[in-house]
Amino acid sequence: MRARNRSGLLRTATTFWRRSIQARVVLSTVLLSAVVVTLVGWTLTQQITDGLAKDRVRAAVAESGRTSTDVQSSLSAATSDFDANAQLPALVSGVVSRGSVRGYDAVVVGPLEGPSRGTTLGGGEFFTPGLQVGSVPSRLQSVVEEVGGSGSWTFTRIRYDSDSGREDVPGVVVGTRLVLPSDGGTYALYQLFPMTAEQRTLDLVRRALLTSGALLLVLVAALSWLVTRQVVTPVRLARRVAERLASGRLEERMQVRGEDDLARLAVSFNQMATSLQRQIRKLEDMSAAQRRFVSDVSHELRTPLTTVRMAGDVLHDARDQFDPVTGRAAELLQNELDRFELLLTDLLEISRFDAGAAALHLEDVDLLELAHRVVDSVAALAERRRTQVVVRRVGGPCVVEADARRVERIVRNLVTNAIDYADSSDVVILLACNAEGSALAVRDYGVGLRPGDEVRVFNRFWRADPARVRTSGGTGLGLSISLEDARLHGGWLQAWGAPGRGSQFRLTLPRRAGERLTRSALPLVPRDADSQKAGVP
Ligand code: ADP
Repeated sequence: MRARNRSGLLRTATTFWRRSIQARVVLSTVLLSAVVVTLVGWTLTQQITDGLAKDRVRAAVAESGRTSTDVQSSLSAATSDFDANAQLPALVSGVVSRGSVRGYDAVVVGPLEGPSRGTTLGGGEFFTPGLQVGSVPSRLQSVVEEVGGSGSWTFTRIRYDSDSGREDVPGVVVGTRLVLPSDGGTYALYQLFPMTAEQRTLDLVRRALLTSGALLLVLVAALSWLVTRQVVTPVRLARRVAERLASGRLEERMQVRGEDDLARLAVSFNQMATSLQRQIRKLEDMSAAQRRFVSDVSHELRTPLTTVRMAGDVLHDARDQFDPVTGRAAELLQNELDRFELLLTDLLEISRFDAGAAALHLEDVDLLELAHRVVDSVAALAERRRTQVVVRRVGGPCVVEADARRVERIVRNLVTNAIDYADSSDVVILLACNAEGSALAVRDYGVGLRPGDEVRVFNRFWRADPARVRTSGGTGLGLSISLEDARLHGGWLQAWGAPGRGSQFRLTLPRRAGERLTRSALPLVPRDADSQKAGVP
């Protein structure tokens, strides 16, 4: 449950991230600024640390030089009977007390040579009380005591005994050598200068940098949010207006404020919308006029056609009494009159759809029964074309609430087309139903459809091959009328076809007219779509 919540949250966050330019701009600006601020802060800290350390080292070396010179000169000034054992502790305590005044700790090690090396005077080491002698790094000790590098220095951590009450601090230690004139013994003096003040300054600088960096980032975030808001808000408004325009509210316009680029964008957008609206209105008017024209012409032609038809019927009935040429002409006249009548009926039907005047007469329709009725009505055509029409039902009875006349017209049109284009192979009518409704597919194994034709076949007057000789005499309006009929029921009419592999037209009708369909009981692409042409699977 919690995992689902988390994934939902993640999805919302990703969608927000993908959709919001503002979020992306703000976050990337803040991230980039954070990198720059960190780099600048790091460089500044580094330079300040270096500067402070250098100053401290310079002062420490100078102080150590002064101390060792003073100590050395006071040693040199001592009398020749200078007793090292008695005077050295006094000297060391002098250095230590000078250190407590000047702010450093001291360690004296020695003598560095001779038989009493490192053992004289209580272990040979004197140092500020409480200081841990290990604070003097052994590396420096070896440089000063063995190589003789007087005035050498290094950084260290100055440690104190826990009972001394002092805390460990970073510091710099400078080592010098002292020579006792009495016995010529050499001693090492280490002075440890704490860098507490420098550390404090550095902490202060770091805190200041951190605070100002954080404040700067907040400022950058606020600024970029404000700036992007100014740009994004009009874009969002434009998007909303565009969506409303797309949904058909053609009078929607953007508000124009000021004269900046965004205002000019709004002006151009509005101009585009106005021009589109004008074009659409013009097209709508044109198509309405066209539809009216078709409807008027069809109605107007109906009366003279009835008269011509009556005259034609008379001539046709009397054709045996004419000479063969006139008789043939009477027959041709009859055929063409049939086609003309069919065309007028289709045109009137289309006009009714266009005018929104088509109405459904609903009843429960058994599709199996209807399919058999259609098969019977096209039996003569099928025989002429040496085609066999087979009906197959998958599952139980398929009953839908529909307008029987319209559904029968759709199925008859599909089956006649299939026979026409089947090239004498079999035509199969498949039936199946599911919880949502029923599907009826008409499959043939004839010429098939070229890619893209599965959409074009439903266009008015569209024919794949206008020159093709038709036996059933279609008008090119059959499938567009069928599509309108299917839509009137809230159903689907779709086509599949491949050159040389036949085609399949699938009609899907909801259980109750007008109910929403989400899937069909039969696949649009037939299962035998891949098998080679010829015959029923
Ligand atoms: P008509 O059949 O009068 O030409 P339709 O609207 O019924 O008009 O069909 C339009 C076009 O769709 C046909 O001319 C034909 O090119 C194509 N068509 C329809 N059914 C099939 C089919 N079963 N196989 C191949 N092409 C078809």
